[in-house]
Amino acid sequence: MRCPFCRHPDSRVVDSREAEEGSAIRRRRSCLSCGRRFTTMEEASLRVVKRSGVAEPFSRAKVVAGVRKACQGRPVRDDDLALLAQRVEDAVRSAGSAEVPAEAIGRAILGPLRELDEVAYLRFASVYLAFESLTDFENAISALRAETSTSRREAAHPASPAEPAGEGPFGVGSSRSALHGTGPNGAGPPGGGARAPGPLIEVAAEHG
Ligand SMILES: [Zn+2]
Repeated sequence: MRCPFCRHPDSRVVDSREAEEGSAIRRRRSCLSCGRRFTTMEEASLRVVKRSGVAEPFSRAKVVAGVRKACQGRPVRDDDLALLAQRVEDAVRSAGSAEVPAEAIGRAILGPLRELDEVAYLRFASVYLAFESLTDFENAISALRAETSTSRREAAHPASPAEPAGEGPFGVGSSRSALHGTGPNGAGPPGGGARAPGPLIEVAAEHG
């Protein structure tokens, strides 16, 4: 790539090291013309395939934009959204595919968003999972309540081997699993929990 200072096309790599826990390489380069140094990051490309079949690069900013709408008026900070987008990217990348369907992004958002803010989660889920009736909301709220009481029981008995209900796909919520020492990353059945993904509509992240 061109030198960001003088646009010269050639540079020399002076240092190369792993970054992002091995999923990326950071290279320190020296421009062959002006001699200034700059850093490049190299990581496997991750593409999101929309339902139209069009693929575009995964974008954390789009995840944030999609979730931000659901968080309007809620006590959620930009830092929280940035962290959530990071978790979504990690979860999707950990599935190991270079291309993921847009629905997978929305699905990976559900778990972290539920932990962040339950109201925002219900808003997002109602669109992403295409809630059609009060019953859909009631079921989602019941699942949230069950989850909350499970968490309380686990807090009271941290050694409990019980798998938390509603484990999301793609290892979403895996930090909690790790906390309780239950199984490998992403343990739990695909689409586990009470929330069987219904017909999808294109709202989710703006990837849709
Ligand atoms: Zn240069």
